[in-house]
Amino acid sequence: MPLDRIVEPVAYGPLPDRDNYWRTTAEPPAVPRLEGAQEAEFAVLGAGFTGLSAALRLAEAGADVAVVDAHGPGWGASGRNGGFCCLGGAVLGSATIARRYGRSAARDWANAERAAVDLVAETLETRGIDADRHSDGETLLAHAASRRPDLKERGEEIRALYGLDATLHGKDELAQLGMASPEFHGAVTVPIGFALNPLKYATGLAGSARTAGARLYGDSPVTRIARETGAFVLKTSTGELRARKLLIATNGYSSEDVPAWLRGRYLPTQSNILVTRPLTGDELAAQGWTSRQMCYDTRYHLHYFRLMPDNRMLFGVRGRVRSTREVWAQTRRQARADFDRIFPAWAHVETPHFWQGLLCLSPKLAPYVGPGGAHGAYAALAYHGNGVAMASLSGRLMADLALDRAPAIPRVMSAPMGRFPLGRHRRWLLWGMWHLHRLQDMARGRA
Ligand SMILES: Cc1cc2nc3c(=O)[nH]c(=O)nc-3n(C[C@H](O)[C@H](O)[C@H](O)COP(=O)(O)OP(=O)(O)OC[C@H]3O[C@@H](n4cnc5c(N)ncnc54)[C@H](O)[C@@H]3O)c2cc1C
Repeated sequence: MPLDRIVEPVAYGPLPDRDNYWRTTAEPPAVPRLEGAQEAEFAVLGAGFTGLSAALRLAEAGADVAVVDAHGPGWGASGRNGGFCCLGGAVLGSATIARRYGRSAARDWANAERAAVDLVAETLETRGIDADRHSDGETLLAHAASRRPDLKERGEEIRALYGLDATLHGKDELAQLGMASPEFHGAVTVPIGFALNPLKYATGLAGSARTAGARLYGDSPVTRIARETGAFVLKTSTGELRARKLLIATNGYSSEDVPAWLRGRYLPTQSNILVTRPLTGDELAAQGWTSRQMCYDTRYHLHYFRLMPDNRMLFGVRGRVRSTREVWAQTRRQARADFDRIFPAWAHVETPHFWQGLLCLSPKLAPYVGPGGAHGAYAALAYHGNGVAMASLSGRLMADLALDRAPAIPRVMSAPMGRFPLGRHRRWLLWGMWHLHRLQDMARGRA
């Protein structure tokens, strides 16, 4: 029985990942298929950052843990993202969090965002994972003169939440910083975060989890989870895994039925990335873009980009609701048109790599870490497109919950997820949001 999923089948097939640049740079460990009847104390469903981080934490606590993935480690968004290891994970701003969950909740969330970035840095360091790290914090660029106040506001927020100084840059300074583009009217640099190669990170996490004793299974879509005498039994076409506890880590690749608790609680949406061939020194000079900062802009339909250590430019665009071949081709054309507008001196430069993946929203517009619908089941998901750091932390928190360690989980994350309206037609909400944001960007970009 195929999984009951709400996005078109193309999203789960090979096309969106076919030309993924990261796959040419790292090879996650080959893992066996789940065969026959297996047992573990903890079963983790999904081998992205969330599941692998959880598995590593559990295995290092001495637990018997098995991870099952439909494909393999880093197959989902974790092996497809832009590698921005940064603050974020919720759509809600700190003022809304404070209003909804209390002032201390806003501070707890800010601390978690920072702790998430620190956790990834520490993991790379202590596990000896070379993930091509670069960038000192991240830089937000104003896409219109009228958006300059957003930069100041972000700087003030960083000071209030973290006691750190963000640096404002005027339009005239951008060329000196190696960020020359006709598109931008100023910037602010936040001194937290760094960029990495996400597939090297996922590969390193998988290796560390295995070394610590976790068993990893791939090519094993779980098509049903049964409850039998107090255990969860994860069924695949070639085997089954029986475990006392279940950790759900399927994020944007979740389904309505495995497990049924997920139905209506998650909303997948796409993000897309172009990567150029390596740029020459002359080409970098011609554009005036030599900075290695990870950058994004003030649009709702934001662009995120960074010049990588091998001189390839990575350029990401959010959005598009449907996942069909036609939409894939349209998105690629639109991303390329945006790239040409922002970096006109590179209009001749080939972009051989373009790929897509699914990220995940929750009805409360913040990540969730908590019980997963049955005694002994837990879930961590919905990082709203910012999961390199936050999925790593959430996986660890979920593992601590499963270990009965009563971790301190920020209220905004532990609050129940709720369900989206419109049932399996809930992607219409994205369609509405997409058009609203397009109009807002047009209006905000005029001056
Ligand atoms: C194009 C793109 C760019 C992004 N850029 C950034 C960025 O720069 N910075 C940032 O912080 N975040 C970014 N994100 C978001 C980030 O990648 C995700 O939040 C994060 O990777 C989520 O990790 P995860 O482990 O929860 O989910 P995933 O990595 O998506 O893993 C879920 C896994 O579950 C498995 N699975 C699902 N159902 C089943 C089943 N029934 N049986 C077995 N296995 C199953 C899938 O095979 C998959 O491997 C981006 C996302 C995308 C798509």
